[in-house]
Amino acid sequence: MSLVVQKYGGSSVADAASVKRVAHRIVEYRKAGHDVVVVVSAMGDSTDDLIDLAQEVSPVPPARELDMLLTAGERISMAVLAMAIANLGYEAQSFTGSQAGVITDESFGKARIIDVTPGRIRSALDDGNVAIVAGFQGVSQTTKNITTLGRGGSDTTAVALAAALGADVCEIYSDVDGVFTADPRIVPSARKIDSISYEEMLEMAASGAKILMLRCVEYARRYRVPVHVRSSFSQLQGTWVTDSPIPAEFRTTSQETEESMEQAIISGVAHDRSEAKLTIVGVPDVPGKAAEIFKTVADQEIDIDMIVQNISTRDPGRTDISFTLPMDDGAKAIEALEAIKETVGFDHLQYDDQIGKLSVIGAGMRSHPGVTARLFEALSKAHINIDMISTSEIRISVVTHVDLLDDAVRAAHAAYGLDSEETQAVVYGGTGR
Ligand code: ASP
Ligand code: MG
Repeated sequence: MSLVVQKYGGSSVADAASVKRVAHRIVEYRKAGHDVVVVVSAMGDSTDDLIDLAQEVSPVPPARELDMLLTAGERISMAVLAMAIANLGYEAQSFTGSQAGVITDESFGKARIIDVTPGRIRSALDDGNVAIVAGFQGVSQTTKNITTLGRGGSDTTAVALAAALGADVCEIYSDVDGVFTADPRIVPSARKIDSISYEEMLEMAASGAKILMLRCVEYARRYRVPVHVRSSFSQLQGTWVTDSPIPAEFRTTSQETEESMEQAIISGVAHDRSEAKLTIVGVPDVPGKAAEIFKTVADQEIDIDMIVQNISTRDPGRTDISFTLPMDDGAKAIEALEAIKETVGFDHLQYDDQIGKLSVIGAGMRSHPGVTARLFEALSKAHINIDMISTSEIRISVVTHVDLLDDAVRAAHAAYGLDSEETQAVVYGGTGR
């Protein structure tokens, strides 16, 4: 008998009919003899509705109260789902994040899970129940306040519970069939990836692929939790995120032959429109200046990504430093850097939010020279001007003008032979989550 953790996203439990459909799916697993822990998101777009509601009464709602409010969404879906399962004649009990033992730090809105003590979940399973847990929430170890893990955080709840319970697999259900070689809305010929390593999935998530939250992948890798990303609207196999062979009882015959095939050099193409570029023009080229600048940015808790430093040709002894950052943090970064303009001695700032980032990701890059050249050739043929470049062992990222991003994604996807003959991607819901 195996233990399965299943997470259902908002679009999979959007209304009563969907909840009933999911309940049937869960009961099938019980009938097959599995123990099942279910993590649910809030129904449909109800988290957004709650945020709107908060904003109607207060432009800047107190963080503690906002978290308290948002956790209500998942409380509704967990209880409703437990009822639907009970109605099918099976035992189910729902638990808040706090009851399930999801312990976090105290940072509201983006709390980190620091421990999971799922004692009550275990006893619920031992008593023959399906245990249903509210995703995206926990309780602070120190203050005992209720916290949320950040948008899309239910994925992380599921993986963390799977790790703590030693589950055989963590299934993440959404309204698409798995992880695709590119966003099917931009590249209709994108293919479903059958299996992908943790490090490649980490790079995909960090580069803008929204199918899995970055933290959830980090967690899965650290605790070696096999994650199966699939659709709740079909019975198809989705994408396995794992470094090990797919567990035998969950494997299909096509996947057995797949494993002996040679791994593709490039696994996928990701893109991100949510970043901006900040350039600090005329920084004195002496030791310590970059440290001052990046300490200031780090103190604002801004995650920066690509960094480029260029010696200014016009003004010797000066350099320009550019980096990308989330657009949402743009104003904060500008304010903090303006404040150290005199002490650092730079000339001025340039801010550009009309950028897009394209990344190609693949572990095969390590052993195949020429991968980078192929990308640049494809972008040049498509007349796409490149603004910034950065690489890691298994990723190449370039920044382009945002208007050229979709073309760049399509060009890169084709250049690496990722286009499939037939259209595979189906988005069953609407939001892609
Ligand atoms: N309901 C939360 C959100 O919409 C958490 C989640 O869906 O994972 O962000
Ligand atoms: Mg959601």
